[in-house]
Amino acid sequence: MTLQELKDSLHNCQRCKLAGLGRTQVVFGVGNPQASIMFVGEGPGYYEDRQGEPFVGAAGKLLNELLESAGLSRSQVYIANVIKCRPPNNRDPETDEVDTCKPFLMQQLQLIKPQVVCSLGNWATQTLLQKKVGITKVRGRTFPLSDFVLFPLLHPAAALHQRSLLEPLREDFAKLRTYLEQAKADEGSAASPVTRPDTQQVQMDLFAS
Ligand code: SF4
Repeated sequence: MTLQELKDSLHNCQRCKLAGLGRTQVVFGVGNPQASIMFVGEGPGYYEDRQGEPFVGAAGKLLNELLESAGLSRSQVYIANVIKCRPPNNRDPETDEVDTCKPFLMQQLQLIKPQVVCSLGNWATQTLLQKKVGITKVRGRTFPLSDFVLFPLLHPAAALHQRSLLEPLREDFAKLRTYLEQAKADEGSAASPVTRPDTQQVQMDLFAS
């Protein structure tokens, strides 16, 4: 299956109850289908639901600035959400909705094959780590999973609601830039982004707690 075929298969998806709770359209994801870096948020908000694209509106504008600060452009990366349809009143997705929709994110990951996945915020981070951890504990650190390195970041929308998070969010993207530059420097050497000893140590620290 190609990414486009997966997208087509979700057109007007009715597999979970979010289909009947006021969504305008399925927000599949956008960006470079061969991206080595992918960003994953929670689910579409009001503007994303209207425009059919993740991270538009004020949070999207901030994300674009942050990408630029990390030396990235939106056209280089791929951006998606765990949940593809907007929950009513921006409530958190419910367990049955996540169980139904998460496999499509996992298929996106398998098809795009990013080396680094940046989870944005608590919810996407916990979903991909499959562990209840607070974003403040894990943000700006690297977690080697079986197919990619997870790099959790604060969510841009959280920083718009709570301005004190803006500086920590900028710090997260500065760390991402450093990590990507180091990974690029390691290219061709024995140390790849997924096997560098410091990332292994971070993972062991997390799961030991
Ligand atoms: S949230 Fe996912 S599973 Fe539910 S209707 Fe939308 S695309 Fe389908």
